[in-house]
Amino acid sequence: MDVKIYEYDAVIVGAGLAGLAAAKELTEAGKKTAVITKLHPLRSHSGAAQGGINAALGKDDSTELHEFDTVKGSDYLADQDCVEFMCSKAPETIRWAERMGAVFSRDKDGDIAIRPFGGQSKPRACYAKDRTGLTLLQTIYEQADRAGIEVFDEWYCSDLIYEDGKVSGVVAYDIRNSKPAIFNAKVTMFATGGHGRAFRFNSNAHANTGDSLSIVARHGLPLEDMEFVQFHPSGLGGSGVLISEAARGEGGRLFNSEGERFMTKYAPNAMELASRDVVSRAIMEEVRQGRGVGKDGQSVNIDLTHLDPEIILTKLPELRELAIAFQGQDMLKEPIHISATAHYSMGGIPTNINCQVRKSPTEMVEGFFAAGECSCVSVHGANRLGANSVLEALLFGRHAGENMVKTLDEGIELRPASLSDADACINEMKTLIRSNGSERVPALREELQNGMTKNAGVFRTKESLEEQLELINTLLVRFKNIRIDDKSKTFNTDLQEATELGHMLEFSKFIVYGALNREESRGGHYREDFPTRDDEKFMKHTYAYMDKDFNMTHEWGEVVQGKFEPMERKY
Ligand SMILES: Cc1cc2nc3c(=O)[nH]c(=O)nc-3n(C[C@H](O)[C@H](O)[C@H](O)COP(=O)(O)OP(=O)(O)OC[C@H]3O[C@@H](n4cnc5c(N)ncnc54)[C@H](O)[C@@H]3O)c2cc1C
Repeated sequence: MDVKIYEYDAVIVGAGLAGLAAAKELTEAGKKTAVITKLHPLRSHSGAAQGGINAALGKDDSTELHEFDTVKGSDYLADQDCVEFMCSKAPETIRWAERMGAVFSRDKDGDIAIRPFGGQSKPRACYAKDRTGLTLLQTIYEQADRAGIEVFDEWYCSDLIYEDGKVSGVVAYDIRNSKPAIFNAKVTMFATGGHGRAFRFNSNAHANTGDSLSIVARHGLPLEDMEFVQFHPSGLGGSGVLISEAARGEGGRLFNSEGERFMTKYAPNAMELASRDVVSRAIMEEVRQGRGVGKDGQSVNIDLTHLDPEIILTKLPELRELAIAFQGQDMLKEPIHISATAHYSMGGIPTNINCQVRKSPTEMVEGFFAAGECSCVSVHGANRLGANSVLEALLFGRHAGENMVKTLDEGIELRPASLSDADACINEMKTLIRSNGSERVPALREELQNGMTKNAGVFRTKESLEEQLELINTLLVRFKNIRIDDKSKTFNTDLQEATELGHMLEFSKFIVYGALNREESRGGHYREDFPTRDDEKFMKHTYAYMDKDFNMTHEWGEVVQGKFEPMERKY
């Protein structure tokens, strides 16, 4: 097969907020940079972020309070040096975005408006109505484009060039014609976003299939804290499409089928604005006890009808439209049905505070960086606070860019790629295109997703997790016997979906394996058979590894402690 080799200073996979922020820094510093993305940059999931981006801008707020809330919300698993870095730089990041042209909503005095979000002691989510991510993504894309970034859009990255502890680029293919190419680079970055599509009920875009997680794991590199998946309390019942936390931030109240405002039982102080893990469990508990609403009784009501309609029309217009479009329910007139939905990945590719990827808890990979949702730096620990991840993507994306510039300026050499570096990618494509078995990709995907939601979702037990591990092992075998119908080379979405399913099966095993080993409950990970947090045994990061036969092992990494001593969480 004819394989082209491109040479760059830097190659970045992913064109969401994290990837574009890094690309802008590199290009402005005069580094030859390629951005590879399977979607047009503006279709990246960052554009779907609704509610806001945190920064301690309020008069009685402080960056230290932001730090405290983040560490407490993380159930003390976040690395406190990284949290301090993020929170102290947040106000500057907002000003940076604003200077680039991001138009934030304003308060009566003309200052950037801030709204309350769950788990935070002060209102601090800056927003642009309920289209915050779209505003930021458009702004940074314009500025990165102006700086002259080179984008390979509708290119699918399927392998990393990794040898002897050093990365020297990636292998990707052009989705238009299935032609592979090698992107040989001195520094490489993954910014591929989240993995929510592994769950049946999720808020994520179709593209959020966690590709880079499996790509990294296939090279024997670890993934960190994958058991921590955030279930957002308010997905539209049935579809899982997100109704932002802004709905509760602006005053939305939750009711069960008996008309009871049930959060009084679960979090009498914080009520609907308790952190996401707490509210999600409360919702699912009501449903389990038979007090759900909707056709299948699997949802609860969120009621905003007591609010001034102006608030909904001016601050939550997109949410109202989504509920009308997907459910035929108008929040101006009636409560709408919601349920907990898989939303965010706290774990991912382990990095240090400078976004450099780790190959073990203590060793680094040379020339390899990651930022945004696919990475685990770790600022969210066991549970992310709302409006902290757009912040993380933008801030650490930019920081990764700065550190890549520094690494280049220090003189990192290009290790020349050879054509054989594309072998794994080509073999995978050939095997999938020729596949002629009896299994179908959509059916296997559905089995995986249903199982993940049922067995590795909001509530987990040893039995449910073992059942899921068994299911994934069976699916991995059945996956070898798939058939795809489209044998062509042009826009072969069958091929892409099969590749993505392979990735989902593999990283899902990390989620389940980590959840099985972690015999405690912390943040988004709730074990009914171990319902309390166990700091003595598990105040540690999971580093899990997978071998070629999908066998798993793990070791523990230290959590960086700081000024905030672990306390019991009270709501
Ligand atoms: C509905 C929704 C609402 C949200 N609201 C908020 C909010 O209000 N506040 C908040 O803080 N957070 C929010 N989040 C979370 C937040 O939006 C994301 O965590 C963040 O935007 C991720 O940014 P990213 O740059 O890491 O990835 P993304 O924006 O997801 O970008 C990923 C990029 O990687 C590319 N890519 C992936 N795989 C490949 C591959 N194999 N080859 C080539 N390219 C690839 C994609 O094309 C894309 O460009 C929300 C998330 C969702 C789903």
